[in-house]
Amino acid sequence: MTTTHRTASVHLGSDPGAGPQIAVIGAGVSGLVAARQLATTGAQVTVFEAADHVGGQLRAATVAGHRVDVGAESVFTAAPGPLQLLEELGLEEELVGANRATTWIWTERGLRPLPDGFTPAGPSRLGPVLRSRVLSPVGLLRAGLEPLLPASRGGPDVAVGEELARRFGSEVVDRLVDPLLGGLHAGDVRTLSLQAATPQLAALTAKHRSLLLRRRPTPSTGPAFVTLTSGMGTMTERLATSSAGVEVRLGTRISAVTREAGRLRLSVDGQRPIDVDGVVVATSAAVARELLSEGSPVAAATLGELRAASVVVAALAYPARAAELPAIAGGTGILVPSTSPQLLKAATFLSTKWPHHAHSDHVLIRASAGRAGDDRAIELDDEPLIERLHGELAQATGLDADPLEVTVQRWPTTMPQLEVGHHERLATIRSALARDLPGVVVAGAPYHGPGLSSCLRSATGAATTLTTALQETHA
Ligand SMILES: Cc1cc2nc3c(=O)[nH]c(=O)nc-3n(C[C@H](O)[C@H](O)[C@H](O)COP(=O)(O)OP(=O)(O)OC[C@H]3O[C@@H](n4cnc5c(N)ncnc54)[C@H](O)[C@@H]3O)c2cc1C
Repeated sequence: MTTTHRTASVHLGSDPGAGPQIAVIGAGVSGLVAARQLATTGAQVTVFEAADHVGGQLRAATVAGHRVDVGAESVFTAAPGPLQLLEELGLEEELVGANRATTWIWTERGLRPLPDGFTPAGPSRLGPVLRSRVLSPVGLLRAGLEPLLPASRGGPDVAVGEELARRFGSEVVDRLVDPLLGGLHAGDVRTLSLQAATPQLAALTAKHRSLLLRRRPTPSTGPAFVTLTSGMGTMTERLATSSAGVEVRLGTRISAVTREAGRLRLSVDGQRPIDVDGVVVATSAAVARELLSEGSPVAAATLGELRAASVVVAALAYPARAAELPAIAGGTGILVPSTSPQLLKAATFLSTKWPHHAHSDHVLIRASAGRAGDDRAIELDDEPLIERLHGELAQATGLDADPLEVTVQRWPTTMPQLEVGHHERLATIRSALARDLPGVVVAGAPYHGPGLSSCLRSATGAATTLTTALQETHA
């Protein structure tokens, strides 16, 4: 239960005459990016972080002496934002591009390559789909009918899986879209919103009668993904230390945001409450719901409707000879459809995918498990979890040695599910906050999706909204 302290409050910032005092709750990438932007407007910004470190889902762990990301692993270079921010933070020298190699799809008949040009928007050419042998002849024929179908009618939001099944047939969705897009979101493509979870695809379907026949931009020759050699957490560490005008308080858990005497009041675990002019809530939706339950019951109730899946990441170090196995030597990883009985959702062969992880002593593999509606992995203890993941990796690749060392990172109710109707829920949250708690905005993955570019867009949008609201209040 949330307790609001009624004791005397304290103020943030040393100079009450300076810019507005703003609290950001959560020092993940979203909170830190919002804080950085707000500070450039002259606001006095303090970021409160419950943990003893910044970064949230950007986190590395050590396995067999190697630093490995056990949260976000890479940045998609085609999406705007993150790459530019990494360069702005002076991290260009740490950037490393992913090697291009096959991504495997797990099928009952063994591993098959993800067809060239297959993206979350479905196939862009049928030749590679035919050669990959993932679809049955009937499924392939059905996919080939796409150019003959009528255009999308627009109208209310639908599930991304529903739209792609209408265009390409169910087999394309179950065998290719589900492991690729469903895997990225740890979700069910039959419930994820076309408009909210895949806005680029929504724009394409609105514009083109056929996704197969549309003219496609020339594919970039550079790497599709990049990462940082010291781990993605360096991004948030650099944000926390290099953003002028931003103070970060670690180990400080906020328990409520309410309105008291015309200002916003933060209740802080074990400390006196703090009064501020503006608040960015950049936590999970579940935490946001608790924080706002007293101040805005309507926003809190709608936040409670935003689901999140639990995922688990295991980083495994195998003897170096594993690098010679054809599946590992020739591929960057495996995607597993949700219809398969496997616990494994995806595996990344780090040593094949990333030049800086090609070690002479070990082969590093990152296995992930858990998705919406499947809590088997998060509920297992480490030992049976590792045994199961290793067994499935061995079955898929022919690995014949046990892992030498394993690190497990659990992410309970972390991967946001942007389900059909998400934009309406977001509009309800925003209008309830504007009415009940003016000066409070929400930012982060639960609202705009889990990709880092979505988080950046969410954070900068929230910071802009708050700046405008504060200017109007003080005009
Ligand atoms: C396993 C995994 C793999 C991923 N891989 C990728 C990838 O390769 N590429 C990609 O683009 N994205 C990836 N993502 C998604 C991406 O990492 C996240 O969407 C993004 O990091 C979320 O950032 P955020 O700031 O919104 O939230 P978070 O990182 O969750 O930050 C929220 C912060 O709020 C703090 N907090 C919570 N409660 C309180 C409180 N009461 N008071 C104060 N602080 C509080 C938390 O401790 C946390 O630090 C991955 C995510 C996971 C879990």
